Amino acid sequence: MSKRKDSCDVIALSDKQAQFACGHTGPKEFAHQFWGERRDVKPEIIAAKEKCGKCWLDEMRKCIIRCGQCGLPIYPGDGVVRYPDTDRTLPSISVHIVDGTRLGCLRVGCCDSALQLSGEWDGEKFKPVFGGYIVDDDYEGPFTD
Ligand SMILES: [Zn+2]
Ligand SMILES: [Zn+2]
Repeated sequence: MSKRKDSCDVIALSDKQAQFACGHTGPKEFAHQFWGERRDVKPEIIAAKEKCGKCWLDEMRKCIIRCGQCGLPIYPGDGVVRYPDTDRTLPSISVHIVDGTRLGCLRVGCCDSALQLSGEWDGEKFKPVFGGYIVDDDYEGPFTD
């Protein structure tokens, strides 16, 4: 399990710099870390040179939230559980609150049981499920799996 950090950064994977269409110069190859968890970017996304590592980070940062319990990232398309935000045992990190509840991840060691699954984070909002699995796993992000 990744160790929680309180920042998100670009990880430079190359000493070489490149010019990107966003107007910035940055590492030719890069990955990201979101609150302590590394995510690699699809090679074709990097090769397209549309956005630098920092611009991708800023864009993804808008649709990735933190787990209300372990603080690790919740990506678009991830299943979530909900915790009452009044639970004082939860860490004081800034998280996304939906109707008085904190969304939490399904990582082993964080969530007691995936059976508590209550919905999905779609990158913008919480989508509840009722007594079943989420089948639409069609989110296509810039990350490798
Ligand atoms: Zn840029
Ligand atoms: Zn968690």
